[in-house]
Amino acid sequence: MDEGLTLTRIRGIDIRLSWSVVIIVALVTWSLAIDTLPDLAEGYSDGAYWGVAALLAVGLLAALVAHELGHSIVAAREGVGVSSITLWVFGGIARLESQPSTAGSAFRIAGAGPAVSAVIGVISLAVAVAFDGLAAAAIAWFGVINLILAVFNLLPAFPMDGGRMYQAWWWARTRDQEDATRRAVSLGRTIGAIMIALGAIEALSGAAVGGVWLILIGWFVREAGRAELDQVTVLGPMGAVGVTEVMTGDPDTVIATDSLEAFVSESVLGGRHTTYPVVAADGSVVGLVNLQAVRTVDRERWPATTVRDVATPVEEVLTVDVTASVADVMERMGVDPRRRTLVFDDARLVGIVAPADLARLVTAVKLAGLDAFRGVDQPSA
Ligand SMILES: [Zn+2]
Repeated sequence: MDEGLTLTRIRGIDIRLSWSVVIIVALVTWSLAIDTLPDLAEGYSDGAYWGVAALLAVGLLAALVAHELGHSIVAAREGVGVSSITLWVFGGIARLESQPSTAGSAFRIAGAGPAVSAVIGVISLAVAVAFDGLAAAAIAWFGVINLILAVFNLLPAFPMDGGRMYQAWWWARTRDQEDATRRAVSLGRTIGAIMIALGAIEALSGAAVGGVWLILIGWFVREAGRAELDQVTVLGPMGAVGVTEVMTGDPDTVIATDSLEAFVSESVLGGRHTTYPVVAADGSVVGLVNLQAVRTVDRERWPATTVRDVATPVEEVLTVDVTASVADVMERMGVDPRRRTLVFDDARLVGIVAPADLARLVTAVKLAGLDAFRGVDQPSA
């Protein structure tokens, strides 16, 4: 999914719009103006239909933001931060900064979105009664769409809201989050397959847009479910592995005042790494430098440019304490292959973690379990 453009900030949460939404807004406006609204309320001008259709399409976006804000506000109350809300082709996504720590908390966060949509739906239908003609039709349509949004999101198709509530319910019952996620993903993947089949039937019987839409949602549910399950089954055990087990200890460093000329000839050509911690004369770490940064400087300026000039300052570098777990590092590092995490013991640099180190561990754990990666027999007594 593209990051899209940031529309505004509400309560410290970035509200973003994926470019795919522009197409959706255009499609919704068009089908409302030429089809739905003339059917619901006859006898108005084309201009009236198009104007109301555009208002409804924008209103629909606002309703999606309200749904995600419902999740976000409850999440904040449950102690889970939300960094952004992105509207995209399948609705909205509120990006949580961490996982809810209890089943009850997960259930309330997931339920809040559909609750907001249902309330908007009921209020709109009540308001529509006070109007007539095109206005009544438009407000009633808006109400019905929000109710459909509430019900659709309540489908137990993890990672949709209903699926998350189903997972939280199992989690509360069995006190086993991993098992609950496995059950929810499995049901979600079945429902995803049914959506794909129904979408195919719909598309073949002439409703191409609706059919393809349903196929895509079914496919998304199946893929996203698998990814979340991977996260739980991999991140879970990683909480028990210390960062010292994957990091490269005592990393090679470069001196901040060295020129790029010296850095390239000594470290890059002579060394084995692409990224180096940068240290000042007193030995303290001041940043991180990589080959990409060197590339931004013209070759003839290398002798006069210091490593520090192009390094990422240490304040902007991911750092963890030597007692951190691999799960901590994974959650913060994400998937950017250029990222590194520096490991500190108080102020002393003791290691560096590259994405490849994490990838190796994940693959090994998937293949053979955690103990096999460690390569030692766990003491039995
Ligand atoms: Zn939701």
